[in-house]
Amino acid sequence: MYTDNELLLNKAKDLLKSKMPSISYSTWIKGLKIASVSDNKIVLVTQTEMQKDALIARHSELLETTFNFITNKQCEITVITNEEKEQQDKSFENIENTEDNNFSKSQNYNSSFLKPEYTFDTFVIGNNNKFAHAAAYAVSQEPASNYNPLYIYGGVGLGKTHLMHAIGNEIIRKDPSKKVLYVTSETFINDLVNSIKDPNFKNELFRDKYRKVDILLVDDIQFIANKRLGQEEFFHTFNALKDAEKQIIISSDKAPRDIQGLQERLKSRFEGGILADVSVPDYETRLAILRRKVQLKNIIFDDYLLSLIATRIDSNIRELEGCLEKIIAFTNLTHSPITIDIVEKTLNEYIHQKEKIISADYIQEVVAKYFNIPKEDLISSKKSNDIAYPRQIAMYLCRNIASMTFPKIGAAFGGRDHTTVMHAYNKIEKEIKENKENSNTKDIVESVKNIIRESN
Ligand code: ADP
Ligand code: MG
Repeated sequence: MYTDNELLLNKAKDLLKSKMPSISYSTWIKGLKIASVSDNKIVLVTQTEMQKDALIARHSELLETTFNFITNKQCEITVITNEEKEQQDKSFENIENTEDNNFSKSQNYNSSFLKPEYTFDTFVIGNNNKFAHAAAYAVSQEPASNYNPLYIYGGVGLGKTHLMHAIGNEIIRKDPSKKVLYVTSETFINDLVNSIKDPNFKNELFRDKYRKVDILLVDDIQFIANKRLGQEEFFHTFNALKDAEKQIIISSDKAPRDIQGLQERLKSRFEGGILADVSVPDYETRLAILRRKVQLKNIIFDDYLLSLIATRIDSNIRELEGCLEKIIAFTNLTHSPITIDIVEKTLNEYIHQKEKIISADYIQEVVAKYFNIPKEDLISSKKSNDIAYPRQIAMYLCRNIASMTFPKIGAAFGGRDHTTVMHAYNKIEKEIKENKENSNTKDIVESVKNIIRESN
C-alpha cells in the first residue's frame, strides 16, 4: 500500500524518467523519498548531501514543473537529506505529546518545518534589511526578552520568510530542546477550522499545538484579516504565549496599522513589541546577494555577469535568485559555460515575461479564459452581468497588479471613462474586503492572480 504522498512521488518519478537521461534519473531521482506535503509545500529527502546539492542546483526547476503539473498548483519544493530529516523529526517529537491523533501529528510535522538553507549565515545584510536582521538575530540569541513580539513586514520576495526560518534554525541549533513552531497564518486558520469542524478533533489538540511551544513564528499574518474566529483565537494564543514568556514572531506584507480588517486589539498587541521593515535592496546589496548565492553553490560565475543581473532585476530578491537559477540550470543542462550571451538571453526572457504579465491585454486574456468568455467581450459595450462582472474583475486587476492608472485602464477597455473604471475598482475592492458568504469575488481574484503568477 502506498500513501498519498508516495503515490504523488511515484507519479513524479514516472514523468521525470521520461524527461531526463536514464543515468541522471537513476543517480538523482530514483532513490528520492518524500517527507511531507502540505498545501503546495513538498519536502523531498535524499540519502546524501551531494544528491541534495545536485538536485537543488541542477534539477530544481524540472522538479518544480513536474510537481506543478501533477498537482495543478505552484509547488514549493524543499530538498533535505535523510540526516536532516531525522534531526527535524526529533525536534518535532517534543511538540507531539499526543500519541493517538493524526491531526496533531501530521500538522505539527508539516507546518513547523524550517528550511535548513534559510539561516543567518546565508542572509546578506544590506541597507534594506539591516534593522530587521539585527532584531531577528537579537531574538534568536535571547528569545522572549526584549523584542516580543518581533513583527517583520515588507513587500514580497524581500527576505521575511528567510529571516523567520533563520531565527527558528538558530534557536534550535543553540538549544535543540526548544520547541519551535513555524506556520503561515493560513495553516493556523486551517487547523482551527479543522479542530472546530471535526468532532474527533478536540480543541485541546489545537491549543496544545499552538500554546505549548517556546517560539511561535507566524508568517504572512495579513491573511488573518477579516476572519473573526481566526483573529479571536490568535488573540488568545498570543496572550497565552506572551504571559508564559514565550517568543512570538510575526511577518506581514504591511505594518499592523495598515492591515485592513485586522482587529484593533491585535494591532496594538503587534505594535507592543518591535516593528522592523524590509525594503527593496539597492544595487550593492543585490550584487552581494548574487555573489553569496554562487559562492554557496560553489559555482564560478563572472562578477561582471552578476553585475548585469543585479542591474536589470531590481525589485525582488526572489526574482533575482530565480534568474540566477535559470542561468545555472541552463548551462548545466547544456554543459556550456556561463557566457554573456546566455545571461543576456535569460534576462531578456525574464523581463519580457514580466512585461507580458503586467499588460492589460494579458490580464484580459486570463480573465476571459477564467470565465470562459471571448476576450473581445471584455472590451465590448455589452452590459449583461456575465460580461460586466468579469470586466470589473479585469479592471480591478489592471490597477491592483499592473498598477495602471484609471484613464489608462479605461483606454484598454474600449475607451471607457475613468470614472467607470474607478467605480468597478471600488466595487470589487469592497467585495473583497467584506468577503460576504454569498460572494466569491475574493476567491476569484485570488485564483486569477495565482494563474498570472504561475505563468510567470
Ligand atoms: P518574503 O518572505 O519577504 O516574500 P523570502 O524570505 O521568501 O521573501 O525571500 C525570497 C528569496 O530571496 C528567498 O529565497 C531568500 O532566501 C532570498 N533572500 C531574501 N533576502 C535575502 C538576503 N538578504 N540574503 C540572501 N537571500 C535573500
Ligand atoms: Mg514569505
